[in-house]
Amino acid sequence: NSVTDEVPGPKRAQNRLTETRENVFVPRGKFENTPDTDSALVANRQWGREILKRSENTDLGIATLKANEVSSNEQVVEIILDVVEASKSWGALSGKERADVLRKVGVELAARRGELLEVMAAEAGKTLDQGDTEVSEAIDFAYYYAMLAEQLEEVDGAEAIPVHLTLVVPPWNFPTAIPTGGVLAALAAGSGVIFKPASNTARTGAVIADILWSAGVPKNIMKLVKFTDREAGKYAVSHPAVDRLILTGGYETAETFRSWRKDLPLFGETSGKNSIIVTPNADLDLAVKDVVYSAFGHAGQKCSAASTVILVGSVATSKRFRNQLLDAVSSLHVAHPQDIKSEMGPVIAEPEGKLLRGLTTLGDGEQWAIKPQQLDETGRLWSPGVRSGVKPGSEYHMTEYFGPILGVMTAKTLEEAIELQNAPDYGLTAGLHSLDADELELWLSKVQAGNLYVNRGITGAIVRRQPFGGWKKSTVGSGTKAGGPNYLVALSDWKSAESQA
Ligand code: GLU
Repeated sequence: NSVTDEVPGPKRAQNRLTETRENVFVPRGKFENTPDTDSALVANRQWGREILKRSENTDLGIATLKANEVSSNEQVVEIILDVVEASKSWGALSGKERADVLRKVGVELAARRGELLEVMAAEAGKTLDQGDTEVSEAIDFAYYYAMLAEQLEEVDGAEAIPVHLTLVVPPWNFPTAIPTGGVLAALAAGSGVIFKPASNTARTGAVIADILWSAGVPKNIMKLVKFTDREAGKYAVSHPAVDRLILTGGYETAETFRSWRKDLPLFGETSGKNSIIVTPNADLDLAVKDVVYSAFGHAGQKCSAASTVILVGSVATSKRFRNQLLDAVSSLHVAHPQDIKSEMGPVIAEPEGKLLRGLTTLGDGEQWAIKPQQLDETGRLWSPGVRSGVKPGSEYHMTEYFGPILGVMTAKTLEEAIELQNAPDYGLTAGLHSLDADELELWLSKVQAGNLYVNRGITGAIVRRQPFGGWKKSTVGSGTKAGGPNYLVALSDWKSAESQA
């Protein structure tokens, strides 16, 4: 059908994203595991090494663009008025015209993949494989939202009216895909944008802004800002000229924003406390692989990450799954991303508060199956931890830690496991490993989360196939899913008119 013809699914994305950069073949996915030929293997590793070598350099070899530094309310107003004024011409373009610009952004992102991998390794500790899939996701957003922009103008007899100003506030854990997705969605819908990158990943934000501008997004339609003063940031978030605010971050941040402005038109993708259930009818080898990747990919710093695995019946009582899981976790190669073999890199900031507690203390009845260790003097590199004996309702069961820790819980039946899975206040992702159709049906009817995955890891939602967004405290505001068909609709205003004469 026409949708599949136009939108890159994972396989198509893989083909489309096969690109030439200095005559080096670059596939989507793992550099070392997916090349088609031996020469590609050698070439990719060489290319990857060069990227990582450059990322050691603290000035990054990247022309750092200056964001607009905003330190006063007057400057906030000035920038807002500029973007609102400029947005009128952008909003007056046809969806097709805006889509053409977005597709050029897709091309430019692919052309500058190496630069993005470099800056993300340097700034966010992203290993090459994690960074690479993230750039691919950003490219998918560009093509997908371009297609939606072309379809947007009229839906069910109502006319889309572009809004003027969308404020985009992304997190540091996906410093390429999430901001690119948010900014491009707003632009596709005809809105002007103020983009405030996370302070830990401001340089990645600057590279993204440069990519968008080079691809033809006018500079006055999309402005990169840095709030050097918290009050000015608060003033911007609360300003009534902000028509939409796209936030990915903690639940508390979203609530704070809402306390600043009660009628804030917020698209908040917030926290998660996600788990994977493994039943005796699972392919256990596959389950081990998926649990490990979901828990420890990017050192567990994903809203979507698996924080808990819930073992059902004989999976809980026999040693096989546990032993295999613990072997797999202990064999992860933990290193800063500059080591090309790294499978798990550092956490973005030296752990403190909740995360430090999660890495160093146990709750009642819990034991370390694998105790996390701080591996070097940066304070950011930690080996992965696995805790068993996690009790229902305990702090570990209910709290998001956002780091490399996995808790093991057990249940007698699938029903009981689903109750444990649904117990936290969040409902972002959830997984089931089972090959049994009745179990699948039961699970689907009961699980309370926005993104459900069966016999697959629970991270890495694919644009269009798995529109992303959760339930309960995992979402604040509109609840519309990013990477899904309604996103641009919700980012627009709508007018329907009828005349009797
Ligand atoms: N979309 C990402 C995924 O599916 C997670 C985004 C996040 O951590 O906020 O893994």
